[in-house]
Amino acid sequence: QFEFSRMGGKLAGPSGILTLMDDLGRALASDPHMLMLGGGNPALIPQMTQIWRERIEVLLKTGTMDRTLGQYDPPQGNLQVIESLAQLLRTHYGWNVSTENIAVTSGGQTAFFYLFNLLAGQMPDGSYRRILLPVTPEYIGYSPLGLDSGLFVGCRPRISTPDESQPHLFKYHVDLKAVESALSRHSIGAVAISRPTNPSGNFLSDDETREIVELATRHRVPVIIDNAYGAPFPGVVFQPTTPVWNESMITTFSLSKLGLPGTRTAFVVAAPQIIKAITAMSAVTGLSHGTVGQQLVADLIESGEIVDLGPKVLRPFYEEKSRFAVQCLTDALKRHAVDGRIHVSEGAFFLWLWLPGLPISSQKLYERLKLRKVLIVPGEEFFFGLEVPWKHAEQCIRLNFAQPAHVLEKAFEVIASEVSLVCRG
Ligand code: PLP
Repeated sequence: QFEFSRMGGKLAGPSGILTLMDDLGRALASDPHMLMLGGGNPALIPQMTQIWRERIEVLLKTGTMDRTLGQYDPPQGNLQVIESLAQLLRTHYGWNVSTENIAVTSGGQTAFFYLFNLLAGQMPDGSYRRILLPVTPEYIGYSPLGLDSGLFVGCRPRISTPDESQPHLFKYHVDLKAVESALSRHSIGAVAISRPTNPSGNFLSDDETREIVELATRHRVPVIIDNAYGAPFPGVVFQPTTPVWNESMITTFSLSKLGLPGTRTAFVVAAPQIIKAITAMSAVTGLSHGTVGQQLVADLIESGEIVDLGPKVLRPFYEEKSRFAVQCLTDALKRHAVDGRIHVSEGAFFLWLWLPGLPISSQKLYERLKLRKVLIVPGEEFFFGLEVPWKHAEQCIRLNFAQPAHVLEKAFEVIASEVSLVCRG
């Protein structure tokens, strides 16, 4: 019997990210036999778990934990941690940053809520600015973030078969002409890319990224790079890359995919004007942020060890899982004679499966698989902002491969057999 405001109703309404996060907790709690390939939980990697245990012990022994739990940080974040991160980014990557360029947020999701609504939507001069996504599909969590509706413009990518000897693999490429056209036709507040991309595992190369930044800069539009899985940390990228930043870019890092999603901690690196705005928004919406995550990584940032975790622990772990998952899914599709194509896995921890012959929507497939106790994420909701409908958007599903091998084997078998059933009518 309560009436909600337009904005309240929009934020409180149904969304793909709500279903996904709800499934993540609820499905497992209600049915421990559910094969969980939905959601974005990282794997519990023993080496990482060990690091966090040791860090907690140090915080307890030194008494730092008492202050960490018992005091608010300023809304910009812990200034010592921010200073160490600025120093690390200067010395390791030559970024021209100081404490004025960094703010903490309660996870990357919150950072994007702030950034998108800061830079796009209804402007004071009455114009309406949008967020441009150069490669759609893009992260499902962005889609409901706009306080105003219609916030996104998405560009359809080009699709290639990168290796003719492996026709079951495909790859998205940014279509720079489409990006340029969108930049000229729309009023754009920011360009946003997740790199590597959730859901597809696509990694825009350093060259492609530079070209997008140059193009956007010519239009005086900032580029937001979402490093939820990217370099320098957590560094779940399966190819060499050099992290770059300048004042026309906004970069986010999160502790979630390092193995600390429960701490809800992320960093935004941007021009001081943006950092001041983010800090103010943090104070208004939440006073401050969780302090535990920052303290858990404080020493790792100060010593620089945090940037070694990707190459030494996370990348090898997920790369091996990715190789296994691609092989295992390929075999399952073959066994059931399913026409399926897998996006090349260049980073993050999802397989993106394209089923060109799927006669039902991926949403329907998700429901059918749930009945067979396999949880996946349907692809439709990753294709927001497109100006022209695209059949491809109904033919893809996302599969989290951070699960143990036996879970993947079982789940892929069910998926291939269900798709085969559906396709045979
Ligand atoms: N960006 C991308 C691409 C993601 O996949 C996620 C989470 O899965 C986030 C941002 C938000 O993560 P968090 O809020 O845990 O930092």
